[in-house]
Amino acid sequence: MQKTKILLDENDIPKRWYNILPDMPTPLSPPLNPQTREPVEPKDLSPIFPIELIKQEVSQEKFIPIPDEVRDIYALWRPSPLYRAHRLEAELKTPARIYYKYEGVSPAGSHKPNTAIAQAYYNMKEGMERLTTETGAGQWGSALSLATSYFDLKCTVYMVKISYQQKPYRKSLMQLWGADVIPSPSNTTNAGKKILSSNPDSPGSLGIAISEAIEDAATHDNAHYSLGSVLNHVMLHQTVIGQEAKEQLAQDDEYPDYIIGCVGGGSNFSGISFPFIMDKLTGSKDVNVIAVEPTACLSLTRGEFRYDFGDTIGLTPLLKMYTMGHEYIPPAIHAGGLRYHGDSPIVSQLYADKVIDAVAYNQTEVFKAGVTFARTEGIVPAPESAHAIKCAIDKALECRKSDEKKTILFNLSGHGHFDMSAYDSYFSGNMTDIK
Ligand SMILES: *Cc1c(COP(=O)(O)O)cnc(C)c1O
Repeated sequence: MQKTKILLDENDIPKRWYNILPDMPTPLSPPLNPQTREPVEPKDLSPIFPIELIKQEVSQEKFIPIPDEVRDIYALWRPSPLYRAHRLEAELKTPARIYYKYEGVSPAGSHKPNTAIAQAYYNMKEGMERLTTETGAGQWGSALSLATSYFDLKCTVYMVKISYQQKPYRKSLMQLWGADVIPSPSNTTNAGKKILSSNPDSPGSLGIAISEAIEDAATHDNAHYSLGSVLNHVMLHQTVIGQEAKEQLAQDDEYPDYIIGCVGGGSNFSGISFPFIMDKLTGSKDVNVIAVEPTACLSLTRGEFRYDFGDTIGLTPLLKMYTMGHEYIPPAIHAGGLRYHGDSPIVSQLYADKVIDAVAYNQTEVFKAGVTFARTEGIVPAPESAHAIKCAIDKALECRKSDEKKTILFNLSGHGHFDMSAYDSYFSGNMTDIK
């Protein structure tokens, strides 16, 4: 019998994270202090991040050990399963072999706890009492609420107001894990007040919520800020995904021709792909790596590669990345986790160096792919993850035309159990595309 699900043992949870920085063909441009335009000093970041994460952000060590306490918590759901999508392949009548790594098995339902656990751990070790963060669709806020509950830390989540209204169950989930959830823009911070004074009905955006969460952390000694994507240490923590996937594929004597992931800030994409890109950069293998974004937020495919702020107000250091501009507020598509104006600086540099490719899809074609997937494989994908599915299906159909037996690996970054209203909107025929 052909394998459908490839599982690893608890002992096979990776013991180290893979840091791509020393392997990159072009060194990363440093983050800049917005006032001086000089590279940011580690001490500039210490009001909001623990030392250990600041070190990881700039580390040139190729591998960084994962603390046992973090691996113990990973063990609650890791190693995550790798599936061979036999039923999807049959539906598409493709000679391609399609595999997907399923990160929806975490308690929060996505890949995000992989970094949330690590970040909460280092903050706890350095004596913090509270973490602040932002959340768009609610997945990151849920992941950090979960992680802080494991380490007895408090958690304050600034949730983009439109999502707070549209996704009340995500809010409930965060509260269930003990977090304090505040709709953003709020009156609790100066950044929020500034937005509200010019636009009292602002639906909010990730950029605004980031400004609020950073201000809260920077103005309270017992609190640090935590970011769920974009930064180097987040990409680092997510590499457990690709390391496991490589091991699992090897059990089926496979190595991918294509690796596909959706990109909001770039973390699940980095997680699945970097351990394979390592082989590509060191010359031992070739693989086509594709980042998938929504047409509503074309940061890689249409954005500019330049220094920009990570937030709307301009509190963060300047990061060199593909960006739509920090004041860009993406249309309210259903894949809320992909509504970010910029991208990870590492992913951006790899794209500029043509190590990876990028494509963009409209939301209706993405939901159609998500439904095909749910009706063949059974798992209900998050709208974000359905972007990767759409691309995998397209590649599989190309293989049908050319009769090529390629191996396709994509990351199913999360489940869509909290996204039923989005599926309702698709089935009602009211969903619109942004061109
Ligand atoms: C947050 C999220 C994303 C987008 O964030 P990345 O950092 O680009 O991975 C994608 N999929 C799911 C399920 C998410 O929760």
